[in-house]
Amino acid sequence: MKILVINCGSSSLKYQLINMDNEMCLAQGLVERIGIEGSTLTQKVEGREKYIIKQSMQDHKDAIELVLNTLVDEINGVINSVDEISAVGHRVVHGGEFYSSSVLIDEKVMQALEECSKLAPLHNPPNIIGINACKALMPSTPMVAVFDTAFHQTMPEHAYIYPLPYELYENNKIRKYGFHGTSHKYVSQVASEMLEKNINDLKIVSCHLGNGASLAAIKGGKSIETSMGFTPLAGIAMGTRSGNIDPAIIAYMMEELDLSVEEVTNILNKKSGVLGISGISSDFRDLWAAAETDRRAKLALDVFHYKIRGFICNYAGVLGGVDCIIFTAGIGENSSKAREACCEGLEFLGVKIDKEKNNTFGKAVDISDKDSKVRVLVIPTNEELMIARDTKEIVNA
Ligand code: AMP
Repeated sequence: MKILVINCGSSSLKYQLINMDNEMCLAQGLVERIGIEGSTLTQKVEGREKYIIKQSMQDHKDAIELVLNTLVDEINGVINSVDEISAVGHRVVHGGEFYSSSVLIDEKVMQALEECSKLAPLHNPPNIIGINACKALMPSTPMVAVFDTAFHQTMPEHAYIYPLPYELYENNKIRKYGFHGTSHKYVSQVASEMLEKNINDLKIVSCHLGNGASLAAIKGGKSIETSMGFTPLAGIAMGTRSGNIDPAIIAYMMEELDLSVEEVTNILNKKSGVLGISGISSDFRDLWAAAETDRRAKLALDVFHYKIRGFICNYAGVLGGVDCIIFTAGIGENSSKAREACCEGLEFLGVKIDKEKNNTFGKAVDISDKDSKVRVLVIPTNEELMIARDTKEIVNA
């Protein structure tokens, strides 16, 4: 069974074709600049040179048509016919309170996705466009929506309700949703395999540390708390996002600096986080290099790690103990220095990493010291595979 995984952005589209018989990726690709001059498709297939097509693409339907043509291309393709694709799994950012798991897409689901667009105006509309484009080109192929928010729908009410007038939740759906759910779910399942323990018996703190970053407290395989909130702006300081700040700062900035809602939103999303503090970069490699001599680059890293340590301790309390801490995504998978800094001072919780084992990147490794009560794992995330697994399960059911 072959499943196509699609992740649509406003002007880009990532895809993977996965053979579910062995869970191997047959081809993966990226389409950039959809609807903009200079549209490009880049496809990678294991053991082959990168295949790049520069071709005008007016919209997502053009892009998906080119993806399908490339997959069946006689020389550069990996399948003989589009009919070999049994199903399509779509990454959808927001499922609101409608979905606590992945779902087969029908008209009712499309309506719910439209409704959720209010909650994720930047993300859901391109996801919907991608689904519609795929439906037009593959009308008889089943499609499944896999939501970033779904995994966190198991949070208890006291975790997701904000201390605001309750009507804002009832009437306007303002609550904590959480994101990166597909990644947190995937790495927690891999952790249970690595530790050879039933996931129902595990208390896990999962740290997804990429340009966007979030932590989740996972008990018995279910998310019970997470650091992102109503939007992906909340939680720890990130590459360019502020994370949690005193909410009164927003009104103060608007009044004192005479800024509009859009301007403040832009500052909080695009000019804050470690970029804002350092004034240098949102890329952690640049910051580590600069931190040798630059005070603010070092400060930005210190703030980032300090926030993460705070959340780990918070979640150890929420979980009533912690068996395992997972590091994943760009920083979590690749930066031994970040992992060391995130675990510094957590010996009182029973967290101790082995510096030599920690000298690793990009692969699944247990980096805990032999005396560590808490197992510390590095696990490369694979959201595409998780989407494909969910899609297979739903289509087979
Ligand atoms: P992601 O959003 O998961 O792709 O992660 C992107 C982030 O990972 C960027 O901020 C990169 O700077 C960071 N990253 C990737 N490799 C490394 C590395 N070797 N050391 C530190 N940060 C890294």
